[in-house]
Amino acid sequence: MHSRDGKIWMDGKLIEWRDANIHVLTHSLHYGMAVFEGVRAYKTDKGPAIFRLPEHTRRLLNSAKIFQMKVPYDYDTLMEAQKEVIRVNNLDSGYIRPLVWVGSERLGIAAKDNTIHAMIAAWPWGAYLGEDGLNKGIRVKTSSFTRHHVNVSLVRAKASGYYINSILSNQEALANGYDEALVLDTDGFVSEGSGENVFIVRNGKLYTPDLASCLDGITRDSVIVMAEDMGLKVIEKRITRDEFYTCDEAFFTGTAAEITPIRELDNRVIGAGTRGPITEKLQSLFFDVVAGKTPKYADWLTYV
Ligand code: PMP
Repeated sequence: MHSRDGKIWMDGKLIEWRDANIHVLTHSLHYGMAVFEGVRAYKTDKGPAIFRLPEHTRRLLNSAKIFQMKVPYDYDTLMEAQKEVIRVNNLDSGYIRPLVWVGSERLGIAAKDNTIHAMIAAWPWGAYLGEDGLNKGIRVKTSSFTRHHVNVSLVRAKASGYYINSILSNQEALANGYDEALVLDTDGFVSEGSGENVFIVRNGKLYTPDLASCLDGITRDSVIVMAEDMGLKVIEKRITRDEFYTCDEAFFTGTAAEITPIRELDNRVIGAGTRGPITEKLQSLFFDVVAGKTPKYADWLTYV
């Protein structure tokens, strides 16, 4: 990915894509303490619009705060820079990746005086779990790896190092012929996917794990609001594997995954084995919202 044409915002300046490099002794590279976001811009009739940009920017700054990383750029600067990378790269839609990391002045765990840096890149990106996945649903396997414990990792932060656990889970699922992993918490209850929150539907009600061990997903929040606006009840609670096996519908949510139906878990067919009707309704509303077609949710879009 490093040798493309285009511009990346790095430490306050727009620079050539291929010049956006860092030193091999960068602290974050060695110890995994960097924080990041995944944000999407969508094509609308009024030009590209970024979905829930304030919430993503706030989460990035909160992630940094949790690790006591003093970001040298404020909220407004980071908001504007995310719009700028869409504009200067002439994207009408795409994925935006902001990252905040610790510089290379010193190695060793305690490098509290190291400089803090930020970069924002953007590029075109289609359906993360495939177009077919969006339409027909994906096959999922419960991971043998456990999700974070609240006193081991602070999951309100979206931190780079945490994704080692996601990679282990995802590798295992893919190596065994599945599309994605479902990861359980340290008590054995459903937590989330390797990079998605998860919902199940039973008797017309939505259930999703509470936020103890999973990321406070912005798509998750959007789905909760849209579902409640549709008159559906949404319950946040602990969910067991057998509850999942016997639910009517299930789906993952995430900026990358959007709303991706789950058609199978651990070789048990979920519902009718295809995208369920409530999933379809939510998905179709979501794609209208991000395309700027629903005035009710207009304030979720920031036009670039
Ligand atoms: N959980 C994890 C572990 C993730 O990486 C993501 C993607 N950021 C999500 C959930 C979904 O969060 P969001 O909807 O904010 O993208």
